[in-house]
Amino acid sequence: MNTVIRCQDLSKRYGDLLAVDGVSFEVQQGEIFGMIGPNGAGKSTLMECVEGLRTRDSGTVEVLGMDPAKDAAEIHERVGLQLQTSALPPRIKVGEALQLFSSFYRNPGDWRKTLRDLGLDEKVNSYVDKLSGGQRQRVFIALALVNNPELIFVDEITTALDPQSRHAVWDVIRDIRDNGTTVFLTTHFMEEAERLCDRVAIVDHGRLIALDTVTNLINSLDGETKLTFTVNGRPPIRELQQLPSLIHVERSEGRVVARGKGRTFAQEVMGMLADLQLVAEDFRSEQPNLEDVFLSLTGRPMREGSGQ
Ligand code: ADP
Repeated sequence: MNTVIRCQDLSKRYGDLLAVDGVSFEVQQGEIFGMIGPNGAGKSTLMECVEGLRTRDSGTVEVLGMDPAKDAAEIHERVGLQLQTSALPPRIKVGEALQLFSSFYRNPGDWRKTLRDLGLDEKVNSYVDKLSGGQRQRVFIALALVNNPELIFVDEITTALDPQSRHAVWDVIRDIRDNGTTVFLTTHFMEEAERLCDRVAIVDHGRLIALDTVTNLINSLDGETKLTFTVNGRPPIRELQQLPSLIHVERSEGRVVARGKGRTFAQEVMGMLADLQLVAEDFRSEQPNLEDVFLSLTGRPMREGSGQ
């Protein structure tokens, strides 16, 4: 298998803040490689250093065998970069934008075919700023594909989308991978990482704290149980925190979510509820997910503002 991106000991500092701290990883040809982590973890900075849009302070980076700090122009011929809306002139039509961006490259592909593949052929004469959020994101994907790239970078592409448009964009990204283009993306949606990525790197405080397939990351939580329930009274957060087998407890959307270790954890929680004369409704044991992996690695939930 060919290595498309190779990063060794990459660091980037903004003043006193070490935003990327000695990160090493490789991305292989034909995979969807995802980076997840809380806001401010350093994902965008890391991606921008790899893209050559930001200058790294130290470490080595190779993209398609080239150094983005030296060969940015050549790399940009062969990779797809996702643009922000602000990069487009105002009141530009979809077809005009694709024509314009195609003119920037030596060997542009057939953008009309790309529009068809993305289900946008009827929008060729529509103004970009009149499209729905999902359609606009697909236009940005089409723009990132105008040069038939070997690798595309996608940063938080589904953040502003409703669930239906998000699923449509996932299908598009899978098709891009299935057509042989490597995809390097960042997301803060765990479900997106779980459903879409072949391998996931977890980033926290500028460091890479885990890297594996989703299945392997979740299997690494062997022996952890996640219980969710509602109670007919004050949620017994403090009492649960006294249980030695508890890893973490929080309230989420009106439910108590308790994670713990050991085969007797569920029994201990039920026993405690009974002692407190609380009736648990809808008591469920759930499959762990990537959020649980993050919690297990860091002791903190990944989402901002969560907790009790
Ligand atoms: P993420 O993409 O994971 O949310 P970022 O790479 O955007 O993380 O940010 C990492 C850290 O660097 C954050 O603390 C952020 O505030 C800081 N940061 C990002 N860009 C800049 C910048 N241009 N100047 C100074 N600090 C920055």
